[in-house]
Amino acid sequence: MPQRSSPWRWIRIAVLLFILATVAQSAWLARSRTAEWTSSLRVVIYPINADGSQVSAAYVGQLRSASFEPIEAFFKGEGARYRLPLRDPVEVKLAPTVASQPPAPPFGGNRLAVVAWSLRLRYWAWWNDTWKGLRPHARLFVAYYDPAARPRLPHSTGLQQGMIGVVNAFARADMDGSNNVVITHELLHTFGATDKYDAAGNRPQFPDGYVEPNAQPLHPQQQAEIMAGRIPVSETRAEIPADMDQVAIGLKTAREIHWVK
Ligand SMILES: [Zn+2]
Repeated sequence: MPQRSSPWRWIRIAVLLFILATVAQSAWLARSRTAEWTSSLRVVIYPINADGSQVSAAYVGQLRSASFEPIEAFFKGEGARYRLPLRDPVEVKLAPTVASQPPAPPFGGNRLAVVAWSLRLRYWAWWNDTWKGLRPHARLFVAYYDPAARPRLPHSTGLQQGMIGVVNAFARADMDGSNNVVITHELLHTFGATDKYDAAGNRPQFPDGYVEPNAQPLHPQQQAEIMAGRIPVSETRAEIPADMDQVAIGLKTAREIHWVK
């Protein structure tokens, strides 16, 4: 019998349409929540031993929800600074370790490839979900590497579509602070924030990538705008922040995540 006339074909199409509709609806719900900020957003972190090393296994094993408390404190403090009428904008939970590796992101900025990857990632995430609690609003898969074996990491990604991200991080206690900075940056992408550094020199853009664009003198800035990623200390130099105390949410980012009009 030719496959064309099989009723299974129509069932398959119906199932696919249902999945697409569900994906679209949950994306819309999650996005409207980040537009309102009337209740805390539940963020779940899924650790992954990305290089299969002993070092990463030991590091992932000692992680607790408390390891990510500085991220909650950051949103609390910054929310208060922007007079957000919500005490705890973000709640961070730790899921059990995920044994599988997420699909590798595409090279370059081809939009279609990114869309295809994001669908694959969401399917993979659904299949490998280890979280048993209330449904997360945002999901971040954090892939840990032994820094001795891999001193440079692949790029991290956070997508507003599906509020999902893959973060590459170092499996070492003294990197906890900078890991949290990267996790927060990607999390803010899932809330709709855009990058604020120039692609060429990794320098913060002025004025949006500055926490205090009106400071006199302008340099050195004391903190990095979280979406700019670096502290502009002079006209030519910008330093990587070591922990959450050295980052803040700038005005444009606050607008993008609907904290200010
Ligand atoms: Zn970014």
